[in-house]
Amino acid sequence: MQAHYQTFRDTLKHSKHTIVVCGAGLSAASGIPTFRGAGGLWRTFNAISLATPQAFDRDPSVVWQFYHYRREVALAASPNRAHNILASLSLSSSPFRGPGSSFKVITQNVDGLSINAALAVSNPTEALDAIIQMHGSILSTTCMDCDHEEENRSSPICEALGSQELSLESSLPLGNIPLVDLPHCTREGCNGLLRPAVVWFGEEPRRMNEINELVDNADLCIVVGTSSTVYPAAGFAFAVKENGGKVAIFNLERTPGDDEADWLFLGPCEDTLFTAVGL
Ligand code: NAD
Repeated sequence: MQAHYQTFRDTLKHSKHTIVVCGAGLSAASGIPTFRGAGGLWRTFNAISLATPQAFDRDPSVVWQFYHYRREVALAASPNRAHNILASLSLSSSPFRGPGSSFKVITQNVDGLSINAALAVSNPTEALDAIIQMHGSILSTTCMDCDHEEENRSSPICEALGSQELSLESSLPLGNIPLVDLPHCTREGCNGLLRPAVVWFGEEPRRMNEINELVDNADLCIVVGTSSTVYPAAGFAFAVKENGGKVAIFNLERTPGDDEADWLFLGPCEDTLFTAVGL
């Protein structure tokens, strides 16, 4: 084994507070397209133009079709080896980190796969406690009128979306679905329009107070499969480094600021994490 893998493993074992900052590359091996990087959704579709509150106000039908497509992909996907490694590291009994140390996964992903992986190895309380979905979940909805948020794993989420072709490439321009046929709140007396419970560009990520505290206390930051272009997540590793902590980056390719990292493991994270952790 190469020496830098061993030094990473030793540091993981001795760190008191580890955070893992995840991006779309973590789920790439599960068949979920990234936005940027090789094979990213940007190549075929301008995802950013749909991931805004303004786009939803302007054309909820098109935005719902984009999210319907992504929901169906997420519902059909399973966690890959990288999710499973992080889930096993988050167990308090993990032999790969020190007794009494903390380990938190802060994910920008909205696909729910980190939670699925954690639920497979721990009880629901421990699994949910280990993961922060800072950009929300594509498998939950929020009512535009009453703000009620709930998990929704229905496939399709409504009949009208189910009849849409599941291919962004071939179905452009997308057909118009009447507002009344889009998902609506089922709470008594409400019937407001539902939106995906995700954080769109221009909106505040979730649980930021908790995340800022974790970042401030972390002595190790592991960055997995993110292009490090979307803030605030892109700044977490730098903040940990500034506080004297260590940073390890796992990505297919070089990303902004990675020359500042203590370890740079280039390659598919489902392989490099496996080698680095030594599972
Ligand atoms: P991104 O698409 O901008 O970047 C993905 C990164 O992953 C790239 O740097 C790419 O080189 C790397 N990558 C691809 N395959 C990899 C692999 N097998 N191993 C390691 N690295 C790999 O993703 P991001 O930085 O998370 O972008 C930001 C936004 O995109 C987030 O807000 C997130 O909510 C959203 N997003 C989420 C999902 C998802 O939930 N799975 C998918 C696409 C986009």
